[in-house]
Amino acid sequence: MYEFAVEPAVTQIRRRGVMVAAVAPASLAAELELAAGDRIIKINGRAVRDYLDFRFLTGGETELTLAVRKQSGEEWEIELERGEGEDFGLEFEQIAPRQCANECLFCFCKGNPPDARKSLFVRDEDIRLSFLYGNYTTLTSITEDEMQRIIEQRLTPQYVSVHATDLDVRAYLLGVDKRRADISAKLRRLLDAEIEIHAQVVLCPEINDGKILRRTIYDLAADHPRIKSVAIVPLGLTRYNTDERLTPVTAEFCRRTIKELAPIQRDLRARLGTTFAFLGDEIYLRAGLAVPTRRHYGDYPQIEDGVGMVRSFQEVFNKLWRKLERRPPAQAAKLHGTILTGTLFAPILSQLIGRLNERFKTRLHVAAVVNEYFGPDIVVAGLLTGSCILKARAQIRGEFVIVPASVFKSDEAVMLDGTTHAELQQRLGCVVRPTDFTAFTRMFALSAAPAEPPVAENYLSVAKNLD
Ligand code: SF4
Repeated sequence: MYEFAVEPAVTQIRRRGVMVAAVAPASLAAELELAAGDRIIKINGRAVRDYLDFRFLTGGETELTLAVRKQSGEEWEIELERGEGEDFGLEFEQIAPRQCANECLFCFCKGNPPDARKSLFVRDEDIRLSFLYGNYTTLTSITEDEMQRIIEQRLTPQYVSVHATDLDVRAYLLGVDKRRADISAKLRRLLDAEIEIHAQVVLCPEINDGKILRRTIYDLAADHPRIKSVAIVPLGLTRYNTDERLTPVTAEFCRRTIKELAPIQRDLRARLGTTFAFLGDEIYLRAGLAVPTRRHYGDYPQIEDGVGMVRSFQEVFNKLWRKLERRPPAQAAKLHGTILTGTLFAPILSQLIGRLNERFKTRLHVAAVVNEYFGPDIVVAGLLTGSCILKARAQIRGEFVIVPASVFKSDEAVMLDGTTHAELQQRLGCVVRPTDFTAFTRMFALSAAPAEPPVAENYLSVAKNLD
């Protein structure tokens, strides 16, 4: 067992209510004299645990009684009437994630270097974050209270790491006993309550591939449409996770998996009207094969899990291309810089950028950055660190460097190894722009390097980054 390197979430769970983080001026909350640091303990007599409860308990209500503990320690009871849909003007503290009770063979925490950012060691398993952000949970340690909450508050969809429906295999992968690994009754209860599920399989060669994978897909497909999709993503082994029970994912394994899945996907499309079981982009790219067409992905149900990101990027790129063809940028030749990405996506991006350079005379250079921090087997751009980028500095050309916005924390300009944006710029000696596709498009429209201040706004954008 390794220790959590962060303050355990339990210290925050014990505090009653939800803390107000900010109050908008001239808002209803300001009128009620609520202030940052106050805790809302109850609403109409019901306990509040977090801002989701606040949202649920106030939603649609016009007459409310709030039990508030002021920062001073005073207890207030506030009775209020508000207009239908009137906003309180409140911001709340973030949800402190509940942590898992598993010991997964492939847990990403075991793959972190000891000096990684503390938050990377948080083994979150939280149905609220699943609903809000698409984080996966295994449901192995879900409480009755949480089950009821999902159903009562309609926290749908939920994202569930299934890995295998074969109980022995699931228990083995999660490092728990079979009783705990068995979530069939819990899943059934959620599905019966019309909670939608998106499932995930972390594919580990020789453990849950082949027949086990086939069975998992068909077992889950039996509950379509309430089980909406399954994302099958490859095991990622960093240089720090050296568990001998795990076999690395090879190009040959990826090709075999794609071949085995193709008839299953065809069958499911014919019967369900959706591909249903989607392979992660990484599997196609590692296999050296093209990613499937747009039709294959439908409405991209698992794009945040790296399923269809490349196809979506290509689609958006084509749109940009058509736009530029209609109105060619006046001074595109001024754009002279380097776009950094992971080794997996670099060949595709290089080809697309090459087309732009040829047609619009831009001078953009794509450089593949090897992940020295986690190990060369980690090939996605989102896990690049400051130290990897600094080691790749010889490849940098031009006046600016573009990095995917996702290499920074969503709320702070700091990378996985703790390198800050300012530090990176200073050490590279040039402008570094975390950029998503919108900022990239804007750069072309303006024929200027992505300018200040979109940096901060881009930290928040991960869906369409240059990954
Ligand atoms: S459930 Fe997730 S966080 Fe928990 S051990 Fe497994 S991989 Fe790690």
